[in-house]
Amino acid sequence: SKHRPTSELLYEEALQHIVGGVNSPSRSFKAVGGGAPVFMKRAEGAYFWDVDDNRYIDYLAAYGPIITGHAHPHITEAIVRAAQNGTLYGTPTELEIKLAHMLKEAIPSMDKVRFVNSGTEAVMTTIRVARAYTKRNKIIKFAGCYHGHSDLVLVAAGSGPSTLGIPDSAGIPTSIANEVITVPFNDLAALEQALQRWGDDTAAVMVEPIVGNFGMVMPHEGFLEGLCKLTREAGALVIYDEVISAFRFHYGSSQTYHAFADHAAIEPDLTALGKIIGGGLPIGAYGGRRHIMEQVAPLGPAYQAGTMAGNPASISAGIACLEVLQEAGIYDRMDRLASKLADGLHAAAKKNGIPLTINQIRGSFSAHFCDHPVTNYDEALDTDGERFGKFFRLMLDQGVNLAPSKYEAWFLTIAHTDEDIEATIEAAERAMAAL
Ligand code: PMP
Repeated sequence: SKHRPTSELLYEEALQHIVGGVNSPSRSFKAVGGGAPVFMKRAEGAYFWDVDDNRYIDYLAAYGPIITGHAHPHITEAIVRAAQNGTLYGTPTELEIKLAHMLKEAIPSMDKVRFVNSGTEAVMTTIRVARAYTKRNKIIKFAGCYHGHSDLVLVAAGSGPSTLGIPDSAGIPTSIANEVITVPFNDLAALEQALQRWGDDTAAVMVEPIVGNFGMVMPHEGFLEGLCKLTREAGALVIYDEVISAFRFHYGSSQTYHAFADHAAIEPDLTALGKIIGGGLPIGAYGGRRHIMEQVAPLGPAYQAGTMAGNPASISAGIACLEVLQEAGIYDRMDRLASKLADGLHAAAKKNGIPLTINQIRGSFSAHFCDHPVTNYDEALDTDGERFGKFFRLMLDQGVNLAPSKYEAWFLTIAHTDEDIEATIEAAERAMAAL
């Protein structure tokens, strides 16, 4: 069992200076029973070391970006080189063209791209562009999908056929929440109803085409096709939030994923990106059809800007990361290791009579303590969070770092080995037995 006295001390100190002691609420241990989160001081490959020199096998991957493992030498080298050449210019650079090219080649629905600094910014701007293009205001989104913390998309809660927005945060005016309609994921009938009622005022339907935020959830067969068709019939735009899904399952995005037979039928008008495309440095990007993207300043009337946008360090790290991901066999390897780990977790749960639903998509999976499938947010809500909290702590004490939330995925990286997986399964066997 791990002792973490220094983390406890640092947490006390952090609480005095940083709100909640953390710079993103998802890092707090509030959802897993409270107490001090672990303060890490170093990361390499699949491992973290905390401030008390405990080692952890990492499945958080910083909420997704670190698919190459921590401190991948090719990315580190690119960042060092960028730093030596000056970190911020406020002018265009050739590097930006290179990364834009790489993204366009991998995601053909993006004729034009714009770089920003986070997934939140990317999503926020796709909504502005959609509103500018359609001259309409309303947005339809899906319950449980997370699209960053901007006003419009933090209106997420709700079940039933369709819900008019109730903000998930204080500080969001009702007038803004009223512009958002939330429907259940994987429910085309609910989307159709919402579009019948509000379609004429709807600028866009926003979706995570493969969900990463209430577990890993594949759309039902035909869901994305139907979504695109219904949305376009209403004269609205389709926006895919691929901040978490792009380059996660293969070298490309959900919209080019092999599981979807008819890629043309599911192509969005706009796509938001982030995470992996920055190789671990801050980044976001959005892009789409030429005539829609030409709404953006300086060409068009939709304004969006950024002092840090397209900075050489983030762009260099992004290029290096995508170069690493082009190596043959990488995604198959993560898939194989994730399958092995999922099998081990299933077996350990079964042996101890614990219901567990694993949704695996290539090298990522979610593991919900429940005995029903998880295909939408309500089903993810209806899982055993208390049991997850205990499991999380038992794993942490054995040197396995997961996200402190029952909804988050386990992310394999290219740095994980068979030995890491076997050690994790052994830890899970002990944890399940203790639950
Ligand atoms: N969209 C999705 C699908 C995400 O998973 C996230 C982050 N978890 C965001 C948007 C927001 O990205 P960022 O945290 O970089 O602002």
